[in-house]
Amino acid sequence: MNLKNYIADVENFPEEGIIFRDISPLMADGEAYRYATNEIVKYAKDKGVEMIVGPEARGFIVGCPVAYELGIGFAPARKKGKLPRETVEVNYGLEYGQDTLQLHKDSIRPGQKVLVCDDLLATGGTIAATIELIESLGGVVVGTAFIVELKDLKGRDKIKGYDILALAEY
Ligand code: IMP
Repeated sequence: MNLKNYIADVENFPEEGIIFRDISPLMADGEAYRYATNEIVKYAKDKGVEMIVGPEARGFIVGCPVAYELGIGFAPARKKGKLPRETVEVNYGLEYGQDTLQLHKDSIRPGQKVLVCDDLLATGGTIAATIELIESLGGVVVGTAFIVELKDLKGRDKIKGYDILALAEY
């Protein structure tokens, strides 16, 4: 299945000159959503994944069905102030300014094999921050999985040494 048929290219969003790759048509198509999920499930099985982590918010959409299918847990990495219990946090750079991601302290066990899922790999800032959170709790990131990778933004270089599954590349 060619997943690019289910990804909308939105010109000049969120600003002039940017092409936004929108995965919502993929999610809206049951067959395509299931296909993408199953590709990540196969990858996770090969890696012996025990826990999934996804950054807010589209990381939930990609990661939760994978966790459900594998019968393992999912932990959300959220923007500052959303998680109610004790957290670890990391600041990371955005194109303009900074943001903070948090993870509940008890969401990962030391040594647990973790897969990080998100919709899209761009500069790699979000995934690098999520990996840092998991590792600060002793988790072992055995892979990262995305629906889309934007090659030109070189996110791969930011997470050198980590394995990457990307289902569609631009
Ligand atoms: P990065 O941190 O630069 O790799 O950006 C990746 C994050 O920004 C992901 O969580 C995406 O959801 C979001 N993002 C960046 N560009 C796009 C896009 O073109 N389409 C959808 N999401 C995007």
